Amino acid sequence: MSKQTVDLVVKNGKIVTSYDIFEGGVAIDEGKIVLVAKDSLLPNADNVVDAKGNFILPGIVDVHVHVQDPGFPQRDDFEWASKAAAAGGVTTFMDMPTNVPPTTTVKAFNEKKELAEKNSIVDFALWGAPDPDNLENLKKLAEAGAVGFKGFMTKSVILKGLDTGTLLETFKVVKETGRFISVHAENGEIIALYTEKLKKAGRKDYKAIAEARPKIAELEATSRAVLMAKEAGNKLYIVHMSTPDALPFVVNARKEGYEIYAETCPHYLFFTKEDHDKLGGAGIMFPPLRDKEDVSGLWEAVRDGRISVISSDHSPCTLEEKNREVWDVIAGATGIETMLRVILSEGVNKGRITLNRLVQVMAETPARFFGVYPRKGVIQVGSDGDLTIVDLKAEEKITIDKLHYKAKYTPFEGYTLKGKPIVTIVRGEIVAKDGEIYGKPGYGQFIPYQEYKPSV
Ligand code: ZN
Ligand code: ZN
Repeated sequence: MSKQTVDLVVKNGKIVTSYDIFEGGVAIDEGKIVLVAKDSLLPNADNVVDAKGNFILPGIVDVHVHVQDPGFPQRDDFEWASKAAAAGGVTTFMDMPTNVPPTTTVKAFNEKKELAEKNSIVDFALWGAPDPDNLENLKKLAEAGAVGFKGFMTKSVILKGLDTGTLLETFKVVKETGRFISVHAENGEIIALYTEKLKKAGRKDYKAIAEARPKIAELEATSRAVLMAKEAGNKLYIVHMSTPDALPFVVNARKEGYEIYAETCPHYLFFTKEDHDKLGGAGIMFPPLRDKEDVSGLWEAVRDGRISVISSDHSPCTLEEKNREVWDVIAGATGIETMLRVILSEGVNKGRITLNRLVQVMAETPARFFGVYPRKGVIQVGSDGDLTIVDLKAEEKITIDKLHYKAKYTPFEGYTLKGKPIVTIVRGEIVAKDGEIYGKPGYGQFIPYQEYKPSV
């Protein structure tokens, strides 16, 4: 029997799933995985990638990204962001609705979708946002394929903040869509008060940002969001948790049967507030960096399942916006390209989590939560041919000139990380290899939310 010839075979690797690691390879044809097997059983292929004994992961799914276009193309756009994604092993990213205009209408949603379709080199999905004056739009956004909704509990520059009443109303409408709402959980009143106090005291050091936004602001808002979600019965996703102290609200609700989860980000798993002065504006993100105990506590929670997802919260601004005085800095950091490297280095290589757990929190669970599973997030027959090959031993100093950000800074500048993605494959096409970009703008596809219905 002659073997069928497929488009691409990746061989000589160690395939990592969420529960196993085994030697072999993957055959991809017409963008889909057609076989996962030992090398000797793989078909002939037009193209062959030799993984050279390295680990083959499902393509990384980054659910929390702010590309900033339309609105702030000087900071980032879909071409730059998706190239950085490809180089960082991310095969699907989900863009947040914090644009101008904000993604609160189907019109804005479709315009952004078109922009991304034209420019992205990897696949993408889109979040929507609630407009408190027009909550019915949420249902239309869900029909248009939004993977979820993002709400702010503090004043945000672009989106209207949700007071407690509006939050509850929003959650009730979100429940009808079956999607998650994610919230930025910080109490704006506490922050406003302490910011004013510190400004009056003449504080100009960057570390003051951690005092202006104390943990209690995050704990209060998290507990309030959880309480409202329990009342409304909707699915809730707390983004960028910076301290394990906020976890009991989430974990206890889950024990009671509610679908309430939390994510954290590489910067909270790496830096402490002592780093604020050294990092300057590059280290200002909200919530702010915390203490050593928070970093170790968050790792413990990633390991044991209390935290479900790691995302980048990639949210660049210009160098000018970063080099300002502490109170005028625009918050947010570049991160999509370094995310996987930080987690490989600080997580897997330091023995804090296994590669299987990494696959769970950075591919499979994100895909399941936000409606792209099993198309994305898993290496199995019928799924998209999205793979990220990683060299666990490669050690390299991070410098901005080797990264692909439009915004020329990274908080990880000068740090040496061990473990990196070496090949990124989207639907059977190599989009990045050894730090070089091969993907073309316009290759990336829009991935709409799709309810997972297991076949029986
Ligand atoms: Zn946020
Ligand atoms: Zn964010």
